[in-house]
Amino acid sequence: MSLHDEMMTAKMYIGGEWVDSLSAKRYGVINPATSEELASVPAGNEEDVKSAYRAAEQAFRQWKKAPPEERADLVRRLAIAVLRKEGEFAMLESQNVGHPIRAMRSDLTIGAKDLTYFAGLYPELRGETIPGPFGEVLNYTVREPFGVVGRIVPFNHPLMFALQSLAAPLVAGNTVILKPASLTPLSALYLAKEIEKIFPLGVVNIVTGSGHEIGAAIAKHPGIRRIAVTGSVETGKEVARLGAEALKYVTLELGGKNPIIILPDVDVDVAVRAAIKGMNFTWTASQSCQSTSRCFIHEALHDEFVEKLVTAMNSIKVGIPTNEDTEMGCLSSKSQLSKVEKYVGIGIAEGAKLVTGGHRPSNHELSRGFFYSPTLFDEVRSDSRLGQEEIFGPVLSVISWNDRNELVKQVNSVQYGLTALILTKNISDGHKLAAEVEAGYIWINGPTTTRGVPFGGYKMSGIGRQGSVAELLSYTQEKSVQLTL
Ligand code: NAD
Repeated sequence: MSLHDEMMTAKMYIGGEWVDSLSAKRYGVINPATSEELASVPAGNEEDVKSAYRAAEQAFRQWKKAPPEERADLVRRLAIAVLRKEGEFAMLESQNVGHPIRAMRSDLTIGAKDLTYFAGLYPELRGETIPGPFGEVLNYTVREPFGVVGRIVPFNHPLMFALQSLAAPLVAGNTVILKPASLTPLSALYLAKEIEKIFPLGVVNIVTGSGHEIGAAIAKHPGIRRIAVTGSVETGKEVARLGAEALKYVTLELGGKNPIIILPDVDVDVAVRAAIKGMNFTWTASQSCQSTSRCFIHEALHDEFVEKLVTAMNSIKVGIPTNEDTEMGCLSSKSQLSKVEKYVGIGIAEGAKLVTGGHRPSNHELSRGFFYSPTLFDEVRSDSRLGQEEIFGPVLSVISWNDRNELVKQVNSVQYGLTALILTKNISDGHKLAAEVEAGYIWINGPTTTRGVPFGGYKMSGIGRQGSVAELLSYTQEKSVQLTL
């Protein structure tokens, strides 16, 4: 059976079995580049979550006892397995999410390296001894897994997030129920075929369906004590609210409206390259939480910067995601496209100056998909909706500044605080600004992330940190033991 045919009859993976939903319902998954149906997957319901919980809870009893090194070995094997199937994964992912295929190969590599990174961290699952009255007591702590962990992920990096979501909880000895985004569940289901060959039954379970049904059922289930959500602020609040009933440990990786701050000593060409890279046009059509969508340019550089930025944005090749030479793909759904169009309308109505883009590409080949041209607004007011709200699409807002105190005030005026990119030749100034900006991850002079550095948000951008030892430990609970001698 071809991969395409397989995906038309895809099933969920629960307790080591391929199952339909107990609802007996299915829904169509769309290729956003063509608007055609790409697959059909089960529309899971609360009963499916209960069934996944039972399987995961059963599996946990043995999995928690497995030596951590063995668990780490299996996690490493998963990394090797996905790398071996890079071609199939990248093609499926690109068709489902609409990002360029070369970017999806890179997502796969990042996810595989994260699995390997967390596998290597298993010796960190250690406790400590605490001195007490000499010769009378021995105090020590151990780190134990929670049990069944629920991981709810968004649509924009389906495979990368699926792999990242498994790494830390599994190494720490938990079993997992993974809920992919309803728009982009295909790579996670394909991943289950590799999981099936590697992990004991029930250690990983993948349930497909809507957030309101499956996501909420995971959030509410009293047995799932630990949940992590990557998604919008609204979803984060809802999961935290639902989880509060059972006092769950919930971590949240949420949205951003991130600034790029350009000081007057910066080379304009360097600033333009950083603004393009920071916006992730060519990775995800800017559908990335870390995209730097508010561009604070010093007024001394403004005119030259905007002119060169427009040239650079107009030269990005928007095309069919699965073509190797495509630089920017499409938005991942019709609703994402509508959201972008809505915000372009809002920007115009608010009096911001539309400098380039603001429309769908005229290329006939792209007319059936959810494509949108890279779009630049200038003269954006920081306190406008365009300047405050997350668009999650290829719309960049330029705000010029000349007063440093006012700059910091405006940068921090949003409800979010995920990332910030500061450009300056004056390193001391860069550090001073980094101290003043309210964000969980700050780049000075270049938006690349390093594995092992904690990632997470300030303010409404989230609670908790991922991608580091702190994440691994957050999937354990500390038990203190006192032995009276
Ligand atoms: P979303 O919040 O709509 O959905 C995220 C996940 O939550 C999906 O699996 C969805 O089905 C589920 N969900 C939706 N409603 C739910 C509910 N009521 N209860 C439980 N689960 C529910 O987000 P999205 O549109 O898929 O992704 C875009 C958002 O994610 C943006 O805001 C973006 O900034 C954010 N994001 C954050 C990070 C980060 O690391 N901080 C990374 C990627 C994306």
